[in-house]
Amino acid sequence: MIYYLIGILAVAAIQVISAIKQYENNGKLNKIHIVAASASSIYLVAMIEVFHRKTEYTIGNMLAMIFLFVPMGIVIPLVYGRIRTIQINVLIAEITAIAIMILSKITAHKVNFLMLLFPLIGWGCGFLISTSIASVSPEIRRRFIIRKKKKGHLSLIHRYEWEIVMMAFMILFSMTSGLERAAGKDFNQTLKNAISTNEKKENKYEDIYYADVDKYKRYDAYAKLHPEMSTEDVVWRVDANLDQEFYDDDYVEYVDENTDKPLLINKFHRVSDDYEPEELVTIEGKYVATQETTDAYQRLTRDLQSQGMKIYIVSSYRSTKYQKKLYNGYLKKDSKSKVDTYSSRPGYSEHHTGRALDISQVSGNLDMFEGSDEAKWVYENAYKYGFIVRYMEDQIDVTGYIFEPWHIVYVGTDISYKMHDENIKTLEEYVVKYVDHTP
Ligand SMILES: [Zn+2]
Repeated sequence: MIYYLIGILAVAAIQVISAIKQYENNGKLNKIHIVAASASSIYLVAMIEVFHRKTEYTIGNMLAMIFLFVPMGIVIPLVYGRIRTIQINVLIAEITAIAIMILSKITAHKVNFLMLLFPLIGWGCGFLISTSIASVSPEIRRRFIIRKKKKGHLSLIHRYEWEIVMMAFMILFSMTSGLERAAGKDFNQTLKNAISTNEKKENKYEDIYYADVDKYKRYDAYAKLHPEMSTEDVVWRVDANLDQEFYDDDYVEYVDENTDKPLLINKFHRVSDDYEPEELVTIEGKYVATQETTDAYQRLTRDLQSQGMKIYIVSSYRSTKYQKKLYNGYLKKDSKSKVDTYSSRPGYSEHHTGRALDISQVSGNLDMFEGSDEAKWVYENAYKYGFIVRYMEDQIDVTGYIFEPWHIVYVGTDISYKMHDENIKTLEEYVVKYVDHTP
């Protein structure tokens, strides 16, 4: 905006100077000259403004560029006379082209050297038109052409003083405009960008089927904190409340009282203290689990054993009471924040459901499991039996738990296959994408 004003003021100033000069030269003001020169200057400013943005040259663009320089080719010869016109035409056309190119370089980081050609062609056409007009009608020629009195030998600079000032201004204008824009101060552009970014933002969430309209602000805030994250990841993570503190009372939900098999238990989804899972059966030794879990586990171990490997259950169903004892025990040796990374608070453990199992190839020892052949096999094959490895490596920001290769949970083959096929690493992501929302 500001540089438009600078441009217009500069044109006005040049006209005033030009008028004074003329008045000094021959004692009278040539109004036609002043009007024509002002119009030309403004026209050129507009031209530079329009064309420096058009760095992609389509046929339409190119024709427009040529066409829009034609009027200049017509006006200048009528004002100045023919001989001087040829030189001025070339000079003004090329300096305009260079100004456009400088601006393109600054604002779009692109330069098209064809730009040197378009104004010349346009002006050339205009020049032909104006000379034909002049030759057809000497009257027009006489009325419009300025005849300066020749005063001895004028130096080149003196003879072209007006043009030189005008060109200096064009370059100055280009630089001001370009620098301002490079510094991001172009008001119009900034406004336009702001609007389009806003629209983009709205649209970018709108296109994601699991984005909730009332969470747009939280998405924005989370995206700002995680600029490296894709919009999709931002959305499902916020949907899973990962922009909040784990265990935050405002976000913790109790699972439905009437369900004995909740799908998602995590640091935002807990069972009540007197929660009863579905019926439990013996799965191995003293351990109990749900019937489905037990059946699936037996299929899994049968296939595992056929590979010459063996695993043991180290932990399965746990009541909230037992979990409380366990968690409080850990608190005696580690800080709360540390314990929270490897043990659930009572009510928040998947083991309450009777569908989570801790397994190891060494009976009673989970720490030996990581890196074993058995762990590798389970990691690669658990989904075929309806299990998932629940606390995957590098998912601590989602699950809140360190890598637990030994902790598997039965979710059924529909879900485990879907997660495997879609490369979904956590139940949190799955629930957002396929339970809380439907694609
Ligand atoms: Zn576990």
